[in-house]
Amino acid sequence: MQLAIAKRLCLPLGKQYPQAESTDLVIPVTKPYLPDRKKLARYIDGIYDRHWLTNNGQLLQRLTERLEDYLGVKHLLLVSNGTLALQIAYRALGINEAVDNAPAQAITTPFTFVATASSLKWEGIEIVFADIDPKTWCLAPEKILSKITSKTRAIVPVHVFGNACDVKFIDRLAAKHNLKVIYDGSHAFGAKYHGKSLLNFGDATTLSFHATKLFHTCEGGAVIFKHEEDFNRAKMMINFGITGPESIDSLGINAKMNELQAAMGLCVLDEMDENLKARERVWCRYQQALPQSLQLQEIHEDLDYNYAYFPVVFDSEAQVLSISRILEENSVFTRRYFYPSLDTVECLGQYALQPISNQIASRVLCLPIYADLPIESVDMIARIIGEALS
Ligand SMILES: *Cc1c(COP(=O)(O)O)cnc(C)c1O
Repeated sequence: MQLAIAKRLCLPLGKQYPQAESTDLVIPVTKPYLPDRKKLARYIDGIYDRHWLTNNGQLLQRLTERLEDYLGVKHLLLVSNGTLALQIAYRALGINEAVDNAPAQAITTPFTFVATASSLKWEGIEIVFADIDPKTWCLAPEKILSKITSKTRAIVPVHVFGNACDVKFIDRLAAKHNLKVIYDGSHAFGAKYHGKSLLNFGDATTLSFHATKLFHTCEGGAVIFKHEEDFNRAKMMINFGITGPESIDSLGINAKMNELQAAMGLCVLDEMDENLKARERVWCRYQQALPQSLQLQEIHEDLDYNYAYFPVVFDSEAQVLSISRILEENSVFTRRYFYPSLDTVECLGQYALQPISNQIASRVLCLPIYADLPIESVDMIARIIGEALS
């Protein structure tokens, strides 16, 4: 599988990628992408000229249009972060409403960033964890089915590390059981499925534009809705439910994106293609240089991957701990994304253990990946791992 991925995603093995230049001594797991500073300064000059900082400003409108165009989506609502994007999506789709006087349930994955699940609990929705597929690390379709009850209102799958969930199966299952689907697409910016945006499936897909994400606005996020009515409801919701100078129509919150965030987004988007090319080079070099025995995520065969992360799975947790320590001694900082498996996190509640999620979570390690990570550093990391394994 690993070779198949390498062939499909990368240049042929042995082919040299051009070198990036950097003199960094410390290698973090990720580095926020900083776009051209002069261009950002020009946007800020414009903000000063217009004296308009937030509330549906000109830059927010421009970023909305450009993202819809870039991603190939409609009904995109910019918000202040990816967690509020999830909360707004749940509320706009009504999945927080009780069922027979009991909290509604949503089926989600325990192998994700905590916000996917904590946002459900925050909105009073009961979390129901289903296990993941051992190869794709996304929700296992057949496991979702077994968790559906009379209280289930929604499925909240995650395109984890940018891999595509089984969207066709999930959307069909949801239609059959009259459930809403909200994809947490925080890792899937720009991902294409059968040549079209992966973000068009379900009733909504959320994105995070946090500084560490592939595309960012320092802090920020978006919800992409399938239906215009849901988009309109959410648009009102993120501005306190206000509809006019003297009218408040519904319960709302403040989840607006401001003009400085939008300015950063416009600059980062301008450089997205170079950013992606540089990440692809790093990603493919890992593919070539790492020991072939390492388990990698099986990327969906119909997906154009976005090279957002480079997670590897070792044979044991002991191996993860020892290798991350050796890397750290060489100033290379990895992260155990996503550990712990969320079914074991006490503040979220008590849950039955999801075995596959726990197995993967205890053995996974994300290696450094960002646009200007030098190829020599990738080679060094691969060499350290190779030596530690042999
Ligand atoms: C980053 C992330 C979030 C939260 O996004 P913020 O913008 O940091 O609030 C939610 N879900 C997943 C899967 C994430 O990786």
